[in-house]
Amino acid sequence: MIFTQVSQAPADPILGLTDAFKADERPHKVNLGVGIYKNEAGQTPVLNSVKKAEAILLETEQTKNYLGIEGVLAYNQVVQSLLFGKDSQIITDKRAATAQAPGGTGALRVAAEFLLSNTVSRTIWVSNPTWANHQNIFETAGLTVKQYAYYVPETHDMDFDAMVEDLSNATAGDVVLLHGCCHNPTGIDLNIEQWKIIGQLCLEKSLLPLFDFAYQGFGVGIEEDAQGLRAVAAIVPELLVANSFSKNFGLYNERIGAVTLVAEDAETALRSFSQIKKTIRANYSNPPAHGGLIVSTILSNDELRAEWELELAEMRLRIAKMRTLFVDSLKAEGVEQDFSFISRQNGMFSFSGLNKQQVARLKDEFAIYIVGSGRISVAGLTQQNIPIVCKAIAQVL
Ligand code: PMP
Repeated sequence: MIFTQVSQAPADPILGLTDAFKADERPHKVNLGVGIYKNEAGQTPVLNSVKKAEAILLETEQTKNYLGIEGVLAYNQVVQSLLFGKDSQIITDKRAATAQAPGGTGALRVAAEFLLSNTVSRTIWVSNPTWANHQNIFETAGLTVKQYAYYVPETHDMDFDAMVEDLSNATAGDVVLLHGCCHNPTGIDLNIEQWKIIGQLCLEKSLLPLFDFAYQGFGVGIEEDAQGLRAVAAIVPELLVANSFSKNFGLYNERIGAVTLVAEDAETALRSFSQIKKTIRANYSNPPAHGGLIVSTILSNDELRAEWELELAEMRLRIAKMRTLFVDSLKAEGVEQDFSFISRQNGMFSFSGLNKQQVARLKDEFAIYIVGSGRISVAGLTQQNIPIVCKAIAQVL
């Protein structure tokens, strides 16, 4: 017998929390764990631009025949325009090659396997802290994961000098995972000068940047959020990007993202990309079509694109509003501790500084679900639940 010997795997720290939330029967429960955008009504509806693209696809789709290994070709082109800017020389010089992937997670996994087979050091540096699944994905694929300094809990800010110092100790050929924008879980991003310093460091030390870009448009704007990636891409000869459209198109369950490789020249890009395709073929052969067709339909239609940009701006602005309201409401509840740093962070998440005991009390006594690290999904706050959440936080502090 084999299965009788198999041990119980631990629940995923974030998705496990959602299961516990679902099972909670208290009617006033609030889930601020998983990173899902909710509107003021606490719902995650399909975007109008997506519904319209799906209506077009229903009318025009002719076949369910397999896609090629790299997915929908028109999709791969619009991905590159979003990442590098539509007039980017990286695109015109054909230095980039993109494969559609099942979500950002799928893209990271493909990148990881590519790195395992095609790098000597097989080592990747991630920020401390980082999205919990990074270590899981990279270690499962067989890479060695090391950490670089990033966040200082005492100051609720980053320590850029410490980050640079740690990465200066990396070995030539190591990979550096960088959050393109809206760092998960801290919400703290590099500024443009810092991005250039990191780009220069990667160039000088021969480190390969791998951008995880899961929140384009959730920080400042679609173009603004890509400035770090574009600045580094202007400095280094080669890099990788794993991007996701789960959040900015609300396409969570369509599993749509992409892995993009940028090489020194078109010939090297094509040759290296053949290894990405080999990895995909061995994993899932070719990607599912629907998500890629939705995104490419929207981005290649001026009207739908304009509508999507408005819908994305609406999500971004609502989150920003919730940050301010959250900080103000904590003050109004008599909390003396300074939480103003929350309104300076970017994206869906806020590293609240709440400790494990406080997080546990919020769950047990108040049915408020937050990840153990104290990460709050600000995108789950609404005008309705903010008073409940702030009252509870005031009690556990
Ligand atoms: N990277 C980061 C930093 C994320 O936060 C997420 C989603 N939580 C992903 C990648 C994966 O995105 P997807 O759901 O598209 O797999």
